[in-house]
This record gives sequence, C-alpha cells and structure tokens, in this order.
Amino acid sequence: MEHTPAAVVFSNSSAASHAQQASARAGCADFPIAIIGAGFAGIGAAIRLKQAGIHSFTMFERASEVGGTWRDNIYPGAACDVPSHVYSLSFEQHPDWSRKFSPSDEIQDYLLALVNKWRLREHLRFGSEIVEARFDDAGAFWTLRDKDGAQHRARVVISCVGGLVDPALPEIEGLDNFGGELFHTARWKRDCKLNGLRVGVIGTGASAVQVVPAIAPQVAKLCVFQRTPGWVVPKLDRSYPSRLRRLFARFPLLLRASRFFKYATSELRGPMIFLDAPRLSALGERMSLRHLHAQVRNPELRRKLRPSFQFGCKRVLISDDYWASFERDNVELVSDAIQSVEASGVRSVDGVLRELDVLVLATGFDVGLSSAPFPVFGRAGQSLAAAWQGGAHAYQGMSVAGFPNWFILMGPNTGPGHTSVLVYTEAQIAHVLHAIRRMQRCGWKSIEVRPEVMQRYNDGLQRRMRNMVWTSGCNSWYLSEDGSNHSLYPGFASEYVLRAHRFRASAYRIEAG
Ligand code: NAP
Repeated sequence: MEHTPAAVVFSNSSAASHAQQASARAGCADFPIAIIGAGFAGIGAAIRLKQAGIHSFTMFERASEVGGTWRDNIYPGAACDVPSHVYSLSFEQHPDWSRKFSPSDEIQDYLLALVNKWRLREHLRFGSEIVEARFDDAGAFWTLRDKDGAQHRARVVISCVGGLVDPALPEIEGLDNFGGELFHTARWKRDCKLNGLRVGVIGTGASAVQVVPAIAPQVAKLCVFQRTPGWVVPKLDRSYPSRLRRLFARFPLLLRASRFFKYATSELRGPMIFLDAPRLSALGERMSLRHLHAQVRNPELRRKLRPSFQFGCKRVLISDDYWASFERDNVELVSDAIQSVEASGVRSVDGVLRELDVLVLATGFDVGLSSAPFPVFGRAGQSLAAAWQGGAHAYQGMSVAGFPNWFILMGPNTGPGHTSVLVYTEAQIAHVLHAIRRMQRCGWKSIEVRPEVMQRYNDGLQRRMRNMVWTSGCNSWYLSEDGSNHSLYPGFASEYVLRAHRFRASAYRIEAG
C-alpha cells in the first residue's frame, strides 16, 4: 500500500485558518475531508459543511467546471422534469426560476451562483479525477490517488459522483461507420447547427422526450428510432411571470409553501408510480392514454406509441409536446428495430435505409449506482467492487461495512421514481454532517457501519422490492443485470428522510482516537 504522508492540500491558507478558528471555537478536533464530485450533491454537502463552520474540506472534480448533470446536459430542450421549487436546495431556495420546470442552463446558473456565494472555488480542484482510494487501518485515513498520480489524504470521504454520468453507447452494428455527426445527448455539440438537416434520434426515454420536440421545428427531417414506447404524462409547464417571482422573493414563506405543495403532491401520487398495484397503475395509464389521444390523431401512430408495460415500471416520461411532435410532417416514428448504422444513415430490420446528416444517441447512461466508481479499498484492503459483486448495497444508501469514514451521497437504493432526488440527498447530507460533528466533538478516529445493521437494512429493502412495480416485467436502467433493483428506494421520500437524516451512533462501530 502506498502512502504519501502529505495532508490534504488546502487551496488557500485562509480556508485552513477558517477551519482552525471554527474548530477552536467549537472545541473540536478538525480533520481533512474530501468531497469527490461537484454536482448538486457535492455542492450541497460543501455548503452545509461551511454553514456548520467546517472549512477543512477539498472538492475533487474531474471536469473543468462544477454542475455535473447540469453542466453536461445542454441538448436543446434540456430541462428538469421535477418542478424547480422542489428540485433545488431547501436551504438555498431561489425565487427567480423562470418556469415551473427550469431549463438546464438556469439550473447550472443556480449552481454557479451558489459556488460563488459560498466561495467554494477556494476548495475546488478541477481536472482532478480520483482513480483509487485506500483506507489506512492504523492511521484511520483515506488516501485518494488522482489520475496524475498525486495523492491526497482525508479522514472522511464524501463520495458525490452521481449515477447518471457516463453515456451508454448502444451496441449497434456499424455505429462507428456513420459518416455524419454522431453524438450522445449528454455530449451535445454546441457548434452543430441542425437547421435544415436530416436528423435521427435513437432512444425514447427522458432525454429523448425533451430533445425531440425542441429540434423538430428546425430540422428538415427527424427520424425517431423507438425500441420501447414509454408512458408519457402532461408536464403542465408554465412560465413564472416576473410579478409572481417578485412575490416569491418578497415572501419566502410563499416559496416554501409552493415547494411543500409540489413535494406533497408528488408524494401523494407516489404509490401510483412505484407500487405494483395494477388498479393504481391503471389510473396513471388512463391519464397517459387521454394525453396520447389528445396529441395524436392517427390511430396507427397511437398504437405504435402505446406502451405495453405497467405504468411506473420504467421512469414515467413528462412532456407537453413529445407525442404531438409525431403529428408534424417532418417527423417520423420508426418502430421497426435498427438493423445497422451505415455511412449514410440507419437501416431498420424491414430493410429501409433512412439517410441522415446527424445521429443523436439518446440512449441513457452506464448507471454507476450499482458498481464502485473507481477502485476503493477499505479496511484490510478489501475492495468495494468485490463487496458489491452481488449488487451495490449500503446502510441507508450511504455507509458500507468495511469502509470506515466513507459516505456516499445518491448511493444505492436512494433514487426516487416519483419526486425530487434532492430530498433524499439533503437527508444524506444531514446524516453525514451529524456524523462528522460527532467525530470531531468526541475525537473519534473512525466510524464504520455494523455489518449486521447494514444487512438487516438491505434485507428489508429487498423484501419490499417485491411490492414495487420496477420488477413487473420491463427492462430499465433501474435494474441490474440479474434483474434486482439497487438504484431506487422502495417507498415514500418522507419515510426515507425520517429514517436517514439522523445519524444514530448505535448503527456504527466506533474507534476512539
Ligand atoms: P433512458 O431512460 O435509459 O433511455 C434510453 C433510451 O434509449 C430508451 O428508449 C432505450 O430503449 C433506448 N436504447 C438504448 N439502447 C438502445 C439500442 N441499442 N437500440 C435502440 N434503442 C436503445 O435514458 P435517458 O432518456 O437519458 O434518461 C435516463 C435517466 O436520466 C432518466 O430516467 C432520468 O432519471 C434522467 N433524466 C432526467 C431528466 C430530468 O429532466 N430530470 C431528463 C433526462 C434524463 P429501451 O427502453 O428499449 O431500453
């Protein structure tokens, strides 16, 4: 095991001295903390640490800017499909969202503003991709190695690497031979102008339902290659007039009420989306079919667009104009499977070649929720990849037995299918912060979830999974290869928050300093 006995480098000395002052005030032992990833979770965790007077942290970000999903997803139409009043941090509410569902660039601006407000740049190291982490049993610290070979030590690591990050490229014969422009929705080429071109979109998931209606009016011809049609419900998006935004700014309680109302509504609708209860699913299916009939007149087209799996089994798609796009003369739905990609276009199994100038892959992500993000070696050198061979699991999605002082945000079984993921993330941040403060106050060297507590928690989760719709017979990124679900939480967000937001020392083995 290699170690460089260098302390985590503070980006500037004032952060270090803040940390010393804060810990002196609180009478606590301060220690270095590493946050890996500067998306919503990493930024939220960093703000909470600062609010608690803890400044001894460094944020490692492999890209050259913060933002994660909202930095990367800049395709036309990219927006949040959860209302922004809920899809924002409760401790940093923003009255000025232009719409109920904000576009991607507004969300990125919000994150950038938070980074500036909380002076997080002094903690950030860009282009710093962590490729390995090792725990030192004797010293109770982690050594993180970045891709350039530099090593960084931390007592506590908060892994905020996200799950929907790396594009999944489809295995389609001849894809590399395509002669036109080819890119994934999450790697959109800003300089590629689509006006007047023939464009193909492969995939009909949450990204496709946003990009298709956004580009349809510009392009000469749009072919949408559908493998599995999804359930779509109306988004009911609307702009927030400046008068209303001023009211939200002037009366923060109004903004809180709007947030609460949207959150409560999503929770009430939750069982229709996550339970394997055909009568409840039928309500969602009826709502979606009404929407389909309102948007598409042609019965044959409606037949092709109609899903055959149970409502909620895959992520429910939210759009006011996706289905209506197929009513346009320049948009074609191709429901025959793709046979191959050729230099000039895409050939479907019926032998038809659609000639294209640009091919967009809206094919989703290599979901990182069910595997270690990079080699992580915990107590006695055990590997996280090996511990997760049968599927990723953690206590409350955050702590893994054998991996002391390592916390995961947006980890296994903490995703929602029905509400804002940030509700879960905030509970995790509260838990981690509480743990760190206890470690500081009590001088603990390490805390490690008890294996039996983690086992009991996950047995309970997997028992409940049997009542969830996700395993009712469809194929989705929610499921691992063996058909088990290690990505979503089987229940209400409120229940998860109640269970997870408090740190209970009795669940952990504690090593005193
Ligand atoms: P996705 O939901 O995984 O959809 C991928 C699409 O590509 C599916 O339609 C899939 O078909 C198709 N596909 C994959 N491989 C294919 C192949 N070889 N041939 C033909 N079709 C293929 O990916 P996504 O749309 O990027 O969304 C992923 C997740 O990101 C969402 O579920 C959501 O959580 C998140 N997201 C959120 C927002 C937001 O507004 N908050 C927006 C976009 C995405 P099958 O269905 O047959 O597999």
